Amino acid sequence: MLNVDDIPAAVISDASVVPTDVQSAELVDVYGTTYLHIRASGIPSYETTISQDHIDFLDNRPRQAHDFMGGSTLVSLEDQVSFGEDIGYRSTGCEDVPGSGYGYWPPGPACPTSQDWEARFPVDPVKAAEPVATGLGAIGLWVNGTAIFNWSDGQSWQGERVWWNLAPTAEAYDLDICPGHSAMGTYHHHSNPTCLADQLGYDWYHSPIYGFAADGVPIAGPWVSDNTLARSSWRVRDYADPDSATGCGVAGQRTCLLVDQTDPAAGTVTTDLPGPDIGTAVTSQSGNAFLADTGWFMQDWYYDASLNDASPMALDEHNGHLGTLPGFTEPRYHYHVTQEQRPDGSLVDVFPYYVGPTLWGELHDSALTGGGNGTLDRQPPEDGGDAPPPGNNLQAAAETLGVSVQVLQDALGPPPPDLERAAEILGATVEQLRSLLPAPPRP
Ligand SMILES: [Zn+2]
Ligand SMILES: [Zn+2]
Repeated sequence: MLNVDDIPAAVISDASVVPTDVQSAELVDVYGTTYLHIRASGIPSYETTISQDHIDFLDNRPRQAHDFMGGSTLVSLEDQVSFGEDIGYRSTGCEDVPGSGYGYWPPGPACPTSQDWEARFPVDPVKAAEPVATGLGAIGLWVNGTAIFNWSDGQSWQGERVWWNLAPTAEAYDLDICPGHSAMGTYHHHSNPTCLADQLGYDWYHSPIYGFAADGVPIAGPWVSDNTLARSSWRVRDYADPDSATGCGVAGQRTCLLVDQTDPAAGTVTTDLPGPDIGTAVTSQSGNAFLADTGWFMQDWYYDASLNDASPMALDEHNGHLGTLPGFTEPRYHYHVTQEQRPDGSLVDVFPYYVGPTLWGELHDSALTGGGNGTLDRQPPEDGGDAPPPGNNLQAAAETLGVSVQVLQDALGPPPPDLERAAEILGATVEQLRSLLPAPPRP
């Protein structure tokens, strides 16, 4: 979605004009490999017509009286809302000043800022010999230059780092109407970007490309053909049946983990850090109450290889398949946004949402696997590869991350530092933080 005329965002602004969408997209050749080089502000040009579904969602927020300044939203059915326009939310994490987008975001996330993304995507992705997990922070860009984040919000049950939350559900009330929000200024989506989908329109044959993951693999929308959704091969574990191969021997308990989530036949292993029993009430970071039903945590899911049956809707463990794709003459490997249809016809997002939990393709040296203000854009090596800078220096780490020492310290919190949380805030990966920071003291 090129905006070569630098048409400014309707609401979001800073010292200079912030153009929306993508400023340039060009092919560049680096040591014989062709990359698509993208420059983007990270600010979308969403214009949303408020539907009855939006109204229902806004009016049925469990903490509606708290979440809106006046107790309820300012918008009504059929209203046209620009990205960042005040719809009455009591936004936190940003100032109530013109251009900030105050009032568009529910309490919790920060307001987004212009990101100056610079990213390179290999034009001919190569299948990875050893697939790598998607990390926190940006793992790709949508075609409007906004960030793609994976399933995680960096939060786990009791902070124990065993049972990890799924951002689209645990943060359901922390997302705007598109649904998206920002971390450390980086606006991103964790699941089907509905406002982008509306802009791209519907293709009767196969959903168009919505974005590109860091490995260069395109991500198509949810449809493989008219009326047929791509189908995630990830299924929830059966905790209810004590005899189930994916349960833990006692109905309703999360006392065991799958040895290999892509191979349930490998069995389970008991964990000293069990998750909450199925149906336990849990409270999200923003104070909203949920029930931790089966599927609440990432560890509740497994890959059912029998579903990857070569049918047109079937997807592999990376949530992709080889098939026809609008814009390409030859079949091409691509991921899909995954949703399921409820009996009433409505669509719900299903894990792993679009990519993952591991990437299909190889990550090149300059892959966008972590981002944040565009400063983590790693250039293709000029000299055959450069080692990351040695750790132990907060100043150097902050410089590498493109933030102030204060921001880095705040993100890390009081000792011991919470790297997962810091990574989400800084738009980096935990691995990056580990390599940049002093080793934590031994427990
Ligand atoms: Zn997020
Ligand atoms: Zn497809």
